[in-house]
Amino acid sequence: MTAGATCAKLAPMSSYPYADRYPVLRGMPDEGRDRETVLAELREMATEEDSFWRTGKASGSFYCGDMEHYAFMGEAFGLYGHMNALQRDVCPSATRFEGEIIAMGLDLFNATAIPGGDPVGMITSGGSGSILHAVLAYREQAVAARGVTRPNFIKPETGHPAFDKACHLLGVELRVAPIDPLTAQVDVAAMEALIDDQTIAMMGSASNYGYGTIDPIAELGQIALAHGVGLHVDGCLGGFILPFGEQLGYPVPAFDFRVPGVTTISADTHKYGYGLKGTSLLLFRERALRNGQYFFQTQWSGGKYCSPGIDGSRSSGLLASTWAGMVAMGRSGYLRYAREIFATAAAMQDAVRSHPELQMIGDPTYLFAFTSDRFDIYHVNDSLRRSGWRMNGLQYPNAIHLAVTRPQTQPGVVEAWVADLATAVEYAVANADKPAKSSGIYGGVSGGWSEQADDFIRGIMGDMLDQHQGLPPR
Ligand SMILES: *Cc1c(COP(=O)(O)O)cnc(C)c1O
Repeated sequence: MTAGATCAKLAPMSSYPYADRYPVLRGMPDEGRDRETVLAELREMATEEDSFWRTGKASGSFYCGDMEHYAFMGEAFGLYGHMNALQRDVCPSATRFEGEIIAMGLDLFNATAIPGGDPVGMITSGGSGSILHAVLAYREQAVAARGVTRPNFIKPETGHPAFDKACHLLGVELRVAPIDPLTAQVDVAAMEALIDDQTIAMMGSASNYGYGTIDPIAELGQIALAHGVGLHVDGCLGGFILPFGEQLGYPVPAFDFRVPGVTTISADTHKYGYGLKGTSLLLFRERALRNGQYFFQTQWSGGKYCSPGIDGSRSSGLLASTWAGMVAMGRSGYLRYAREIFATAAAMQDAVRSHPELQMIGDPTYLFAFTSDRFDIYHVNDSLRRSGWRMNGLQYPNAIHLAVTRPQTQPGVVEAWVADLATAVEYAVANADKPAKSSGIYGGVSGGWSEQADDFIRGIMGDMLDQHQGLPPR
C-alpha cells in the first residue's frame, strides 16, 4: 500500500468533528427532531466547510465552485433523488437522462470517428466504478473470446490506484510499467514488454492524477492493436477539460476514440464535468465489450433480475442532476471554464518556474506537480499550509501538486500564489537541513513501507469510521 494520493487527504483527526458543538449520537434517537433544526445544523457545517475551498487555496476536489450551479443541480437531485433508476417502468426519465449523458460523452470523445462503429456507454458511481467496470468488461471478454485463465492488466506506475483495486477485487494480476522521470509519461516499450497471451488490456492516463501528464496514447494504441489487447484511457480527471484545452490551442494530443486502438474511456462527470459527486462515464468503442459484463439472474423466485453494472438500486437524482448540469453548461460553458482554468494554471506554473530551486515534473497543463533538488519539497508544503493552501502530496520522488479548478480563477488567487510560493521557497532554503513537518503524514515517505505503517493506515481508516465509539454521550 502506498501513502500517496489517498492518505494525503487523511491527516489523522485529533478529535471527533463537531463534538464540542452538537450532541454525539451513539445510537438511534428515540424521538425524531424537527426538520428545521436538523437543516440548520447541516447548513452551519456546510457553510463553514465551504468557506475553506472558496478561498481558491485548495487543490482539486471543488471543480466548479459555483454555488448557483450547485444549488441548481441540488434542485434537480431533489426532484428525482427518491426514484430508483433500476426500475425503468416507473422511472422512464432515467432512460432519457442516462441515454443523453452517454450521448454527450460519446460526442465529446469523438465516437463518430469510429469507422462503422457501434459505440456505447454506461454511467457508474465514480471514477473507481468506471475503472472497475472497464476491467470487468475486459476480463469477461478475454475469458469468453480467448479462453484466458490467468488474466493480467498493465498500467503505467502513474495509473490511478483504482486500477490496483479493480484488479484486486476481480482476481486480475496487475503489471506495472515504469515512467520516464523526465517526461512523467509511461515508457511504451516497457508496457509492450509486459504483454503476454494472458493480457486482457492496458491503460494510459489523460491525464494522470499525480503529475497531470498525458501518456503517449497513440503509441499505446498501436501496440494494443498489434497484440490484440484492449486499451483503456483514464480520463477520469482530464476527460471533461482536456478536449476544451485542445480546442483552445493548448498542447493536448488526441487521446479519445479518434486514436486507433482506444477501446474504452472513463471520464468523471463529478470532477471537471462539474456535476455533483456520485457519477462517472464509461464509454466503449464496441457494444459487445460492454454487454459482456452485464449481470442477470432469470431463475430467482423473486423475479427476473438484471442490472447493467455492479450497483443494484441507484438514485435517479444523480442522473437527473448530472444531466441538468451538463445541459446547463453546454460546450460553450465548458469552454469558458476551461479557458479560465488553463490560463490560471499557466500563470501559476510560471511562478513555479521563476524559482530555480523548484523543478516542474513533465509537461503539465491544468494540473502541475513540482519537486526540488535543493531541499525536501515538503518544507515548501509546510509554509504553503501556513498560508492557507491545501496541496496534494506525492512521493518517489517527494513532490506536491495543485489541480487548478475554478475557485483558483477568482481575482487575487494567482497573486496570492506568487507571494506565498516565494515565502515558502525562502522558508525551505532556510530550513533545508531540518526534516519537513508534513512529509510523514502528507504523502511523502522517508524510508520504506512497513507493517507499522500498515497499522498506521488502519488507524486512519478507524479515525474516519469508528471515532464516535470513544466518546461519551452528551
Ligand atoms: C479521481 C481519479 C480516479 C478515481 O475516481 P474516483 O471518482 O475518486 O473514484 C481515477 N483516475 C484518475 C486520474 C483520477 O483523478
